[in-house]
Amino acid sequence: MPWNDEFWDREEVMDRKDLEEIQFKRLKQTIKKAYENVGFFRKRLKSVNLTPDDIRSFDDFAKVPFTTKEHFAENYPFGLIAVPLSEIVRIHTSSGTSGKPKVVAYTAKDIENWTNLVARCFYMVGIRRGDVFQNMANYAFFTGGLGIHLGAERVGAVTIPAGVGNTERQVQYMVDFGTTAIHSTPSYALHVKEVAEEMGLIDKLKLRIGCFGAEPWSENTRKRLEDAFGINAYDSYGLSEMNGPGVAFECKEKQGLHIWVDNYFVEIVDPKTGERVGEGEKGELVLTPLTKEAMPLLRYKTGDITILENEKCGCGRTHPRLMRIFGRSDDMLIVRGVNVFPSQVEHVLMQIPEVGDNFQILLTRKGALDEMTVKVEVKDEFFTGEIEDLKRLQQKIQRALQLELMLRTNVELVEKGRIERSMGKAKRVIDLRSI
Ligand code: ADP
Ligand code: ZN
Repeated sequence: MPWNDEFWDREEVMDRKDLEEIQFKRLKQTIKKAYENVGFFRKRLKSVNLTPDDIRSFDDFAKVPFTTKEHFAENYPFGLIAVPLSEIVRIHTSSGTSGKPKVVAYTAKDIENWTNLVARCFYMVGIRRGDVFQNMANYAFFTGGLGIHLGAERVGAVTIPAGVGNTERQVQYMVDFGTTAIHSTPSYALHVKEVAEEMGLIDKLKLRIGCFGAEPWSENTRKRLEDAFGINAYDSYGLSEMNGPGVAFECKEKQGLHIWVDNYFVEIVDPKTGERVGEGEKGELVLTPLTKEAMPLLRYKTGDITILENEKCGCGRTHPRLMRIFGRSDDMLIVRGVNVFPSQVEHVLMQIPEVGDNFQILLTRKGALDEMTVKVEVKDEFFTGEIEDLKRLQQKIQRALQLELMLRTNVELVEKGRIERSMGKAKRVIDLRSI
C-alpha cells in the first residue's frame, strides 16, 4: 500500500475490499445510533418493519426509506440531533438555496473529522505549509466559511478568513500577501477575475491553485479561470447535511471528484422511482454519513444529479469518483417540455470567446408557450457600435444554444456590468412563468 508524501491518509489508497468492510461496520453503527437516539428514524424504520439487526448487507440497506429536505423542515430546528445539546459544539444552517434553511449540528469529534476530510482534499491538490490560502467564502452560517478554513489550517497553510465582498480589497491582499491558493464559488471567482483585470493587477497575482464549489460550473468555466489566473482549478463538492465541503473533491487528474466513501456511503438512484441505477448511469446522489455523531442521517436524497465512476483513478486513490454535478433535480427547468439544466447553458456560453463571464436565464410565458431568454454580457472589445456584428454574434449564440438544448431561445446581448454580480451562489434563473 503506497504511503508517502502524496497521501494524507492511508484510507485514501485502501484496498476496495477493506474499504467495504469499514463502510459496512460504520453503516451498521450509524443505523443503530439513528434508531436508538432519533425518534424520527425509529419511526421510519418501524414503518417498513425493520430493526437495525435486519440490515445484513448493502442490499438490505436499500429497504430503508429515504430522508429528504422536507424532513429537515418537519424536524426544525433540533429534531434530527442524536446527542444531548451538551455534546454539540457547533451549529450551521444551509444557505437555503431551495426552501427552508436546514439546521445541522456537530460534536467536537464531528468537527475534528470534518477538518481532516477537508485537509485531505487540500493535500490532494498540493496545498501545503507555506501556501497562502485566501478563503473567499461566506463565514456566516454557511459551511464553506469555517469548514474550508479549518481544513486549510490543518494542512498548515497561512489561512485568511477573507469572506465575500470588498472585492477590490481582496484583490489587493492577494497581491500584497502573495496569495497562492483561493477558495470561492466559481461565480464569485469570475467576478474577482473581472475586478483584478480592471485594477490592472491580474498579472501580479501569484496564485497556483483555485478550489471552487458550492454550485455547478462547467469545463469551459474551468478553462477561463485557469487561463485568467494562471492556476489549476479544482471542483469541490459538499453539502451542509454531510458536514459541508470535503465530501468529494477533484484530484490533480481532474477526471471527476473522489468521494470519500470511508465517511459517506454512496448510492445513485432514479430520482422518480428511488431504485438504484445501474453502474455508470446518471441519477440522484443519495448519501449516508458514516462517521457523524450529532446527525446520523440515513439515505439522504441530496437532489444532486451525477454519475458514479468506479474505475480506478490515475492518481492511485481507490475511492470512486463523482462526475461533475449537473445540477439539482429541482434546478432542472422544463421549457416547452424540454429539460434544461442551467449548467448546460453555462457550458455553451463559456466556450464562445466574445461572451463575458455573466449570464442570466429569464423564463416567461407567451400565451400557452414558454419563452426562454438568455441575457448575455458581451466582452467590452466585442461590444462595438456595429449593429451588424452584434446581430451576427447573437445568432451565433442562439445556434449554439439550440444545438445543445434542442430548444429555440431568445438571446439578448448586454454590456459588461449589466447583470448583477453574485458573492455566493449565483442566481442564474428568473422564472416569471408562475407569477
Ligand atoms: P443549500 O442547499 O442551501 O444550497 P449548501 O450550502 O449546503 O446548502 O449547498 C449544498 C448544495 O450545493 C449541494 O447539494 C449542491 O446542490 C450544491 N453544490 C455544492 N458543491 C457543488 C459542486 N461542486 N457542483 C455543483 N453543485 C454543488
Ligand atoms: Zn484521482
